[in-house]
Amino acid sequence: MCGESSVTSKMMTAVRAGTIIDGTGKSPVKDAVILIEGPKIVAVGSERDVKVPQGATLVDGSDKTVMPGLMDMHLHLGTVTDDPTEPNIVEATGKASVSLRTIYACREAEAYINAGFTTIRDPGGWNIAIGLRNAIAHGLVNGPRVFAAKVVMHATTPAESGIMRGGAGVLAREGADGPWQVRAMVRDHILHDQVDFIKTLGSGSVSSAVEHFRVRRYTLEELTAMADEAHAYGNFVAVHAYSAPTVRVAVEAGVDTIEHGPFISDDMELVKMMVNKGTIWVPTIIVYSNRGLTDPKKTWIPPFRRGKAQEVWDNIEKNFRILHKAGVRIAMGTDTARHFIDHGDNAWELEWMVKFGMTPMEAIVASTKMGGQALGKPWSEQLGTLEKGKLADLIVLDGDPLEDITVLQKKDKIKKVMKDGKVVVDRES
Ligand SMILES: [Zn+2]
Repeated sequence: MCGESSVTSKMMTAVRAGTIIDGTGKSPVKDAVILIEGPKIVAVGSERDVKVPQGATLVDGSDKTVMPGLMDMHLHLGTVTDDPTEPNIVEATGKASVSLRTIYACREAEAYINAGFTTIRDPGGWNIAIGLRNAIAHGLVNGPRVFAAKVVMHATTPAESGIMRGGAGVLAREGADGPWQVRAMVRDHILHDQVDFIKTLGSGSVSSAVEHFRVRRYTLEELTAMADEAHAYGNFVAVHAYSAPTVRVAVEAGVDTIEHGPFISDDMELVKMMVNKGTIWVPTIIVYSNRGLTDPKKTWIPPFRRGKAQEVWDNIEKNFRILHKAGVRIAMGTDTARHFIDHGDNAWELEWMVKFGMTPMEAIVASTKMGGQALGKPWSEQLGTLEKGKLADLIVLDGDPLEDITVLQKKDKIKKVMKDGKVVVDRES
């Protein structure tokens, strides 16, 4: 071991931390060290237990907090309209050019990594997010890990949802109808479109100009086929659903994450079912808040959308408190999209989670460890916490988020961001 250390230490990085919050929910550790070899963490602990090898590259956070990079499990990259005052953003984004959307998405990726987000999940911007994911992996764009999906549309989904269909000029009218068509579309997304997961709309939406979010999209047979087919490929399913009956169909079908779900607590049996099955809930609070769709200053938001968002907002705190208290697994997600919330302001979500009853530590776990869990295996074993064997995605923060969760919103306080063991943002040099 001693003989090897001079060789391996050349490739080692040591992060010194005044405090480590490791993302597991365990108490913070003072005066700690994280040792990193290549992209992976090889040791974490108090500086008494973890010695810095000679020759290791030092990242000094000895007067700062070091924690896992933030993870947002629900946002939409490249949601761009040619005219920013266009009220029907869903349809207009579908008409914007792919090249314009792509350029915006590159800038948004940079905003994320600069704000300390090292992993993001885009459940419905497929032709932009998949290419961007690859461009970041190729080193062309500085950005977070991107997990991308294309939406499995139901035949009854209105044609306005061009953006979700990957539209960009073409409002395709295809959609699955019945379990066998659902299976075929899931296979198509996985085998041909290189998606990282399967996304679907189990209900209508707040965004839609033509239907209410209580409208049910899929039958139990269809969603069971979707989950079964996705799981057969080692993939997972995220379902957008609002009302308790539409969420219930998805949970019974065995899907992995529920997006939005502001009325789940209308059905306490369903809450129990989610706890028992371990279904992960991604609440997306800020998009409905007065910083998002119910912001009186955002005058371009049309009344149909503002009204539905207000209906959601009026129930959101009660629902969140009930599900949190019941022990539903919660992963942070914001539904950030240009015009609604600026990309990079996603850490506002943690402030609302704390206002709605989480401790700051619970909000951090929801935004780190639970993000990893929401991505399923093998990513749940590689992302989300600062533990031996995981990928070294972390931030060095000037402040204590357990004292004040809003410090995570202040980009100038995020002094360094590391992804895959490499410093990719440095505000101190
Ligand atoms: Zn969304």
